[in-house]
Amino acid sequence: MTPPRDAILALYNRIADLSHAAAILEWDQETYMPDGATPSRAHQIATLRRLAHEFATSDELRQALESLESYVREEPDDDFAAALARIGRRDFDRATRLPANFVAKLAETESRAKTAWRLAREANDFSRLRDDLEGIVDLNKEKAALLGFDDHPYDALLDQFEPGMTTAAVSGLFSDLRAELVPIVAAIAEKRDDRASLLRREFDPAKQWEIGERLIRQIGFDFNAGRQDLSAHPFCTSFSIDDVRITTRVDPDFIPSAFFGTLHETGHGLYEQGVDRRFERTPLADGTSLGMHESQSRMWENQVGRSRPFVDFVWPILTGAFAQLSGSGAEDIYRAINAVEPSLIRVEADEVTYNLHVMLRFELEVALFENRLEVRDLPHAWNEAMDAYLGVRPSGDAAGVLQDIHWSMGGFGYFPTYTIGNLMSAQLFERAAEEIADLDERIRRGRFDALLLWLRHNVHRHGRSKSAESILRDVTDRGLTAEPWLAYVRTKYSDLYDLDLR
Ligand code: ZN
Repeated sequence: MTPPRDAILALYNRIADLSHAAAILEWDQETYMPDGATPSRAHQIATLRRLAHEFATSDELRQALESLESYVREEPDDDFAAALARIGRRDFDRATRLPANFVAKLAETESRAKTAWRLAREANDFSRLRDDLEGIVDLNKEKAALLGFDDHPYDALLDQFEPGMTTAAVSGLFSDLRAELVPIVAAIAEKRDDRASLLRREFDPAKQWEIGERLIRQIGFDFNAGRQDLSAHPFCTSFSIDDVRITTRVDPDFIPSAFFGTLHETGHGLYEQGVDRRFERTPLADGTSLGMHESQSRMWENQVGRSRPFVDFVWPILTGAFAQLSGSGAEDIYRAINAVEPSLIRVEADEVTYNLHVMLRFELEVALFENRLEVRDLPHAWNEAMDAYLGVRPSGDAAGVLQDIHWSMGGFGYFPTYTIGNLMSAQLFERAAEEIADLDERIRRGRFDALLLWLRHNVHRHGRSKSAESILRDVTDRGLTAEPWLAYVRTKYSDLYDLDLR
């Protein structure tokens, strides 16, 4: 039988083109667009997104999908068609469960709340966001009901970002992890010092930018199929496998912000550039889950970027560019970039305390969706949770409940993927280090090709055709587990803080 691919591919190409065109407008909004263009840009993006949604829920697509499914029943060995049918069905069913009016109302509320969030954060005043956020939480409760769930409304929201993940699974994972982490954080706190101070000096922004571009080119980011620009919040987006955009921000008084932000977004970008070209302009050309995506960014940022071999490699470059570091040895820099300090802001948190920031957001989100917490009580609940998890208390809403954009964008269920990504990164890197001979030595010499090839082969090329769970099982012989990440943290920080954390 001839696969009925042409018909459905033509439809998917059209949807992909519209979505990518909208994504270009969104990228432009975050990088170069003048503020005055905000209202007209919102209309342009909404028009493209609405058109894409109409095509994605059309009868034409339903019929094409049904004939692809009957072909796959007869020819189950056609992997490409099978993956396309499976992902196509998932996307179609989810899209059609949300009525067009609901999608429009949610988009409008979110776009208003995004601005309200920015103003509330500037004014350090949660009350300016409260009404819009109440609207968003209500709409997300409705969304969970429309999407459907077996056990918990939050399952439906989680599943948008981490397919198949449940509230119960995340709760179990997080409570085990927290029990292990709290004593580690407490032991390190006893040994706190000012080792990070050498990073808090003036660093020429132009040189920071130049070093970042040099490093990510050497790592393997293809500038012929992507570029880097500046934005207020670093992100990665792609319009094609051949057009992947990453952004960063540069803090003139704190070098890790751009340095690790750039490595992080590069990890996302390498994933997007590494997807199998057969998947271009189809629903398969994307990361398989946000957790898997984050595993790629965190691996280059942490397992590679914050490692001793990487610091040995980058030390001559840094001391050559910045005279103020010339008195510091590689070991001083290694200790500085790995300083552990409970802090208020998630995106600036060290590797050890980072996951505690995620856990408290998960706890608050679940409480909201179980109707145990009201939006108006969020600032108080946030501050209490910060105290309980990290022993620090924000002095205002900007450094507390308002620090992240996600809730105003309706991203409930998103935060857990950050910790899931951290765990996956350690699980995958542990296996990579076993399979690649002399990985440390290669990194020390600035040779990243073997690791990138390993990731291309095991993770990137599959796009959405293979689930995160099957990637983990095929590569590491087990499903998601916190053990490799905990082992990594115990070994690394025992050494860094002269402790016995095992
Ligand atoms: Zn990320």
